[in-house]
Amino acid sequence: MSDDAVVRWPEAGETPSYRRDAAAGAAGAAAAGVDGPVWHLRGPVLTGPGEELAEAWVVDGRILHERPELPAGTEVTSIDGFAVPGLADLHCHIGISDEGTGTSLDVARAQARTDRDTGVLLIRDAGSITDTAPLQAEADLPRLIRCGRHVARSRRYLIGYAEEVEPGDLAATVTAQARRGDGWVKLVGDWIDRDAGDLTPTWSGADFDAAAEAAHAAGARITTHTFDEETLPLVLAAGFDCLEHATGLTDETIRATAAAGIPVVTTLVNVGEFEAYAAQGERKFPRYAAHMRRLRADRYRRTRDAHDAGVPLLVGTDAGGVLGHGIVHQELDELAAAGLSPIAILEAASWGPRRFLGVPALEDGAPADLLVLPTDPREDHRALREPELILLAGRRVG
Ligand SMILES: [Zn+2]
Repeated sequence: MSDDAVVRWPEAGETPSYRRDAAAGAAGAAAAGVDGPVWHLRGPVLTGPGEELAEAWVVDGRILHERPELPAGTEVTSIDGFAVPGLADLHCHIGISDEGTGTSLDVARAQARTDRDTGVLLIRDAGSITDTAPLQAEADLPRLIRCGRHVARSRRYLIGYAEEVEPGDLAATVTAQARRGDGWVKLVGDWIDRDAGDLTPTWSGADFDAAAEAAHAAGARITTHTFDEETLPLVLAAGFDCLEHATGLTDETIRATAAAGIPVVTTLVNVGEFEAYAAQGERKFPRYAAHMRRLRADRYRRTRDAHDAGVPLLVGTDAGGVLGHGIVHQELDELAAAGLSPIAILEAASWGPRRFLGVPALEDGAPADLLVLPTDPREDHRALREPELILLAGRRVG
């Protein structure tokens, strides 16, 4: 079962390791005997939007859709409630301190636990100063998919966060970060340009093309931090796989993003903070300040328009660094403020990210990473705040 804790991105053409484990686990459960607690989830078990099972079981850390044969005397704990896959946070920085520096593993572990205790059982970090790989072996922590370190243009990002490079070194740096991470690279696509006094893309179209090509050649996917309108056509043309923040979406780039099937990681709590950035920059950079305020003011409309156009939205908190950990429910409230239905919020927080990352949800034989809720999250997303039970690989962690 220790293998379950390691989330490794598969090589091109390889079956993701959790799927292999899941198949072996389901077939081998009876022969191996029962390891750990057995749960009877008396449901409903919400396996997808519009899909549910009346009940399911957790045996040997895995979810089973059929009542298993158990050795006589096996203790089974029954629980009533709405079972959903553990929440995901697609933009979380485990290993960056509140001061914006690298952390010890102890601090990174505490951050991961804080997120876990809010029901987040799957994290794709979006760049970390610290190598958090050792935490992936710890079975009581959320499954962690790492991005390596942020890649940014020299002096065009928060100080100390990124590998800062010029265009000539971009492709090689992306290749190096792809080796460090678990199949993801994070490129900072725009930032304030002090000469222009406004946000501008930090790379040319050709640079974005080279970065995407390098990531894909290394078997990784690439995502980008983007606030500015002008960056989006460039990264979409370059074949980026995911967009972070994407506050600069326009009608045109919403259509292009939807057509490409590229998800947007929302980070609306962070976008709410743009007023503070605007106020800080106001005196020296009035155009930048006005731009940031405009992006903030449009955040709910833009999010709703993207959703309505069919752009997959995925929940990201941007916790770590500026924002503290444990804020996923605030992000879900922001999605509700943007007009998303409870089902759409559940899709963005739970089923959708798992599909996108290739991590199972509640399929037969999947690792039992789930929440049991006393009330129906399809009626009100705030039900997710009050899990009665949190299981990680079938073990109770909350
Ligand atoms: Zn971030």
